[in-house]
Amino acid sequence: MQKMALLLLGLSATLAAYAQGLTDSTLRVDYIFAGSNGSAQIFLDKMSGSEGWHGRTVNMKSLPLRGNGSIVMQDSETADTLYMMSFSTLFQEWMAIPQAKTQAMSFQNSFLLPMPERKADVTVSLYDYKGTAICSYTHIVHPDDILTRRAEISEIPVKYIHKGGDTRTCIDVAIIAEGYTAEEQEKFYEDATVCVDAIFSHEPFASTKDRFNFLAVAAASKDSGVSIPRENIWKNTAVESHFDTFYMERYLTTGSIQKMHELLNGLPYEHIIILANTDTYGGGGIYNAYTLTTAHHPMFRPVVVHEFGHSFAGLGDEYDYDSGEDPYYRSDAEPWEQNITTCHDFASKWQDMMNEEGVELVEGAGYQKTGVWRPARDCRMRTNQAPAFCPVCQRAIRRIIDFYTVQAE
Ligand SMILES: [Zn+2]
Repeated sequence: MQKMALLLLGLSATLAAYAQGLTDSTLRVDYIFAGSNGSAQIFLDKMSGSEGWHGRTVNMKSLPLRGNGSIVMQDSETADTLYMMSFSTLFQEWMAIPQAKTQAMSFQNSFLLPMPERKADVTVSLYDYKGTAICSYTHIVHPDDILTRRAEISEIPVKYIHKGGDTRTCIDVAIIAEGYTAEEQEKFYEDATVCVDAIFSHEPFASTKDRFNFLAVAAASKDSGVSIPRENIWKNTAVESHFDTFYMERYLTTGSIQKMHELLNGLPYEHIIILANTDTYGGGGIYNAYTLTTAHHPMFRPVVVHEFGHSFAGLGDEYDYDSGEDPYYRSDAEPWEQNITTCHDFASKWQDMMNEEGVELVEGAGYQKTGVWRPARDCRMRTNQAPAFCPVCQRAIRRIIDFYTVQAE
């Protein structure tokens, strides 16, 4: 039985020296996060396996950032940590809105893990704003589990927009077409090229091009354009995205996370950018989940880079507005996002950079006029007019790039 399953998944080589106990194949685990304002539960939905592991092969036992949640894989016998990753989820954003006080809902969340060599425990945890676990769930993974589906390899046309190097050592970003018909494939490749060019026009991405691969995945949608519920426009599209998420006009997201990953089965990817074929303004970026933005709005270039700042580097928003009485960030805890501070623990942020040119402590960030500070007057994470990421954001992004590509001492 074991031999058959191993052959089925093509598990042969083990990963690099830093990734002991792991194989060169990928396990995708699909979860349902469900609950209301007062309760959260995690359910295992299903698992699938595919050949090749394209995530990091360094720093396997540490997290790039705390995030709003984590997934940890440990050897069942020795309890040695094999791999861990952090993330954020739309579910927790939803838990904070008034609707969640009277209604329970479920959200799909899928994560890619390196397939373990032998039986392992996988623990998923969600945290509150202080970093305390509000919900935790552990299940077992058997590498030879016959019910782990063998993922069908995606047959969608793909094209490298940028190839910095080998998929094993580079950060692999998939760019998915959303709301482009089969006839609009060339238009999508052009938009994906603009997206990559916009990212590489910003430091520190500009000087680390050789550490990134960008693969455009031309998923064909039946309809052209995306859904705009407030205008009663519903389209049949590749990842079923829509505006008006949580009734916020500009918030463009998808709940069809499994469908999104199915499009990428067997392809080398770690991070996801979805380009929506529309000129309506909007977007969203969720840390280690995806960036979703509109390709034909005049602000496409700054917006896609801003959202990638969220999804790739876990940066917070540096803009502010009158948020009312229920602040998102509170003074009794330091946010985990590296570019905003409540000054609860400023030393853990950019205190050491305060003597650098352009680095300050400016009140107003994280959707709040008071109580949250940003590192600069302006930044890609604050306005579309800013020419660049501020120095603190640049350092934060560089640290993430290094985390994925260079083994720490
Ligand atoms: Zn910044």
